Amino acid sequence: MAPHATGTPEPNGTSQEITVLASSRAVINNRLTPATITISTTTGKITSISESVLPASQFPPGTPYTDYSPAVLLPGIVDAHVHLNEPGRTEWEGFYTGTQAAAFGGVTTVVDMPLNAIPPTTTVANLKEKIAAAQGKCWVDVGFYGGIIPGNAADLKPLVKAGVRGFKGFMIDSGVDEFPAVSSQDITKVFEELADEPTTVMFHAEMIPPVTASVGDDVQASQPPLEPSGPLDAYQTFLDSRPSSFETCAILEILSLAHLAPNLPLHIVHLSAVEAIPMLRDARAKGVKVTAETCFHYLSLAAESIKKGDTRHKCCPPIRDQANQNGLWDEMYEADSVIKTVVSDHSPCTPELKLLPSHVPGSLDSKASGSAELNSGDFFSAWGGISSVGLGLSILWTETCRRQLDENQTLLDIVRWCCENTALQVGLEDSKGALKVGMDGDVAVFDPEAEFEVEPSAMLFRNKCSPYQGKVLKGIAKATWLRGRLVHARDAGFGEKAAPEGGLLLEPRR
Ligand SMILES: [Zn+2]
Repeated sequence: MAPHATGTPEPNGTSQEITVLASSRAVINNRLTPATITISTTTGKITSISESVLPASQFPPGTPYTDYSPAVLLPGIVDAHVHLNEPGRTEWEGFYTGTQAAAFGGVTTVVDMPLNAIPPTTTVANLKEKIAAAQGKCWVDVGFYGGIIPGNAADLKPLVKAGVRGFKGFMIDSGVDEFPAVSSQDITKVFEELADEPTTVMFHAEMIPPVTASVGDDVQASQPPLEPSGPLDAYQTFLDSRPSSFETCAILEILSLAHLAPNLPLHIVHLSAVEAIPMLRDARAKGVKVTAETCFHYLSLAAESIKKGDTRHKCCPPIRDQANQNGLWDEMYEADSVIKTVVSDHSPCTPELKLLPSHVPGSLDSKASGSAELNSGDFFSAWGGISSVGLGLSILWTETCRRQLDENQTLLDIVRWCCENTALQVGLEDSKGALKVGMDGDVAVFDPEAEFEVEPSAMLFRNKCSPYQGKVLKGIAKATWLRGRLVHARDAGFGEKAAPEGGLLLEPRR
């Protein structure tokens, strides 16, 4: 096939107008195939794909050309759940460091959650503050979610028009005062407001189950079980405090209101409890437009292995036991699984807020600070959130290797979970998530054989604190291309750039 057999012909194909990436293996149209991908450096779009490795000599002299064989060309990863925290909590994370960590791991698009920055993204004015803070600092493309909080229903349609990729609300304390949880009455208003808008409404689905109204005299007189079940630095105590019934209760509540907006896509962020899967399956079978995502950590970490005080593992909902992890994996392979996407939920904080004991990597020196509390390892007082943006591809690959899953099929699955379906979830399916003519030339070059240890030099997010630190991961994003430009190469670093290449994705959804 000629290099320009598909797509728009190149204007004379002059060397500066295109860049060419080739490999003996690429994921194209849900298949592994040899490929040569031509990207316009003017538009950043893929202009042609040939399903063979064409030699450089087929292109005009001087055309930038890289044959990455036998590494695999994947669409750039779309991480649809990250917290970048800027402005307001930039010491936790920021656009520059968060997106650089993304680019390091083959992620070319991140979508920023509406909370933890100050202000939260709950009004158009607040969104504008975020946009201003992000200008010129992004290594990859960045989209924004809007936030749902009590009383902001009137702000939602304007946020849709301003280009938010969806909305998120909490059904339990979010951990920050400026982003309160919503009640069923609030959700009702939101569903009525957004019923026919081109958007997705997502929930942090944990909720404290209500006490039954009438259960007999004895139980009515007793106090709720507020006592922790064990020491505060034991992971099991924390896990006991957030049982799977928190998730199932919240999801049932959402599903009970779904009829108010039958056309509105609903989405459960960071699903952890396998007990919630049957009710989501049921709802989908009845035509409710609901999907779920899970996270790299729920698929790779297990409660049994979390050591005393190692609060790097604290997140909400919690990492559950190995059997639960296996159950999530099983669901991923079911026909029409309710789990459509896998994301990082990268949610960092400063090391002070993690309260790590001194023997855990990333902990602070309590002697220097004079505060023993800093090293308490208290799972309840520590900030909940796991840092992993940019590590996801390697985490998933390592885990699928451990599970001895078929490698070729896994490459296709990862593209579906982390590229195609995440792009679809946030309304970017026309430009992101697939190697296809007309799409953005976003490419992750993946070496499935290489291994690396997660050291601070592999964690480019601001605070080098992650439960993956010290682990050896298999599979490396050896290069990351964003709209036809090389933004990162593992062997050459980020190079000297006047400004990062990332753009802000603010086109309203259709
Ligand atoms: Zn989150």
